[in-house]
Parts: sequence; structure tokens; C-alpha cells
Amino acid sequence: MLLIDLHTHINLLPNPLPWLLEYICKQDLSIENYVELSKKHNKKIILSPVIYNVPGIHWGLTGVEHQIRKLTHQTQLLNGKVKILKSKEDLDSEFMVGLVLQLESCRWIRESNTKNTLEQLHELGIRGVIPIHFIDNWLGSSCNYPYVPTNSSQDRGLSHNQAHVFFQECKNLKLWIDLSHMSTNAIDATLKFNHHSICMTHTSIKDIQDTKRAISKDHIKQLVKLNGFIGLSPTDRFVSSTSQFIKMIQYFHEIGVNGHYGFGSDYGAPIKTDKGLENYEKLITTISQSNLNKSQRDQFFYQGALSFLKESL
Ligand SMILES: [Zn+2]
Repeated sequence: MLLIDLHTHINLLPNPLPWLLEYICKQDLSIENYVELSKKHNKKIILSPVIYNVPGIHWGLTGVEHQIRKLTHQTQLLNGKVKILKSKEDLDSEFMVGLVLQLESCRWIRESNTKNTLEQLHELGIRGVIPIHFIDNWLGSSCNYPYVPTNSSQDRGLSHNQAHVFFQECKNLKLWIDLSHMSTNAIDATLKFNHHSICMTHTSIKDIQDTKRAISKDHIKQLVKLNGFIGLSPTDRFVSSTSQFIKMIQYFHEIGVNGHYGFGSDYGAPIKTDKGLENYEKLITTISQSNLNKSQRDQFFYQGALSFLKESL
């Protein structure tokens, strides 16, 4: 295995792309690139691409179906080199680039239709969900992300009853719950539920660089107890420099956590890094030449995420 990136974007947006999106998302996110990277290193890659739900771009179940059709078509053109992974057995099957699909935002799911919608999402191949995105929704509060002025500044945590029904349905279907974008109180409340599988796929460490999206030491420890996964993003909304990013990887060792972490890039969102780390080759070289030891590097690149996927799928 070369690397596992448990939160990334590939281009599933409408074509032609609205010009502003084209301008801010200028990274090359084509699946062919990942196939080339896998071929060059002669190792597998697993990505967890985001299925969006953005008003005006893709919305509701129709939006999900549209994106998955597009993705399936792209994978068919690559003759088995790219495969959508849906089970534990799929992890060991033949592919160069494996894709485990996740849904970002459940804001559009109707409370009265939770079970049915989640079943359809599972049937379509979704294996993880981010319940709350940039703004508060029927499941609970967002982390008051400063770039989104419409967001509530009040942290009301979870809508307890609705969220518990939702979590239970996710558990029945084996969909992982992703804490990314949740408010502090919503994370606290979510961690009290006995989940099938739980993670925070794209985040940073509060003790290293304190942002609203970062995870606290206490939440890391609770996630680890639940056998969860923490994915670190090197991009500018999480960390200001490459050295800060490397410090985040070392941090786990410093607090006595030797697994459960890895990579969740958030590439493809409107982001950048200070040294071009949004290119996988550059990222691999930078991490390989850093002062991280082999076990830390392996954990970061694929081991943490692989253990998580083996438990979750
Ligand atoms: Zn996100």
C-alpha cells in the first residue's frame, strides 16, 4: 500500500464547472493521475472521495445518484484499475486505486425518511457519513467555521433524539460516523453513543494550531478508546506550515497514541498548502525526508486508515 487518503475530492462537479469553482479548485483531481501514481510506485492507493450535497450544484438523493453514476462511468473506462470498495474482502481484491465512498453533509435527509434514505445510500455504495457540515442542521451544531457567516454562534450540541435514531440506523448498516465539522458539544454528545465505527477524517490538532475545526486531546483519547480514526489535513485551513503539519503527526506519539491516525487531505476543496503538499508526490517526498521515524510514516500513510477500514467495512 502506498497511501490511504480518507477524505478527498475528485472531480464529480457539473461540467462545465461554474467559473468561480474552476478558479478556486484548480488542483488536478482526475482518477487517471492516481492510477499513474500507483503504477509508478507499484503499490495500491485507497481514497475516500466525497459525494457532495451542495445547494445549486448537487442536491438530495438525485444529486448522489448523479455523482455515483459519473464516478462509475469513470472507473469503467479504466478497466478494473479503479474499483469502488464496499466490503472488507474488497480491500484485498485486485485494483490499483480503491475508492471508499463517503457522504459530506446529511442536512438534506428528511428526518421522517432517515431509515429509507440511509438504506438507499448504502445500496449506492456509501460507507461513511458526515452528519453535519458548514451550518447547523436537524442533527446538531456545526463548529461555527469562521468563513461561513450564516452559521450559528451558539453551540447547542446534538439534537439528541434525532441524532440517536440516525446513529442507530448508521450502525445497523455499518456506515461510519465522521465528526468533522461538528461543534465541540456535538462531538462530546456523539462520542457517548456506542457506534459501529467513528472517525474524524479531516482535522488538525488543537494543541498545535487552535482552529474551530481542530480536535482536542480529550476528544482524540475518547476516539481512540472507541477504536476510531483521526485524519490529518496539511492544508491552510488547518495548519499554517509544513513543519506544523509534521508536528501534528509527532503529537500522537507524544500523548501516547501509537495508532488510529493517518491522512485525510481535503484536496480539491478550495485550499492550498505552503509547500505544494496538495500534490501526493510532493507530500510523500516531504514526509519521507522529515524526522518522522518509519513507524510514524507508515502509520500516517496507510496503516492507521487500513486498520480502521478493516474494522468498518
Ligand atoms: Zn469537509
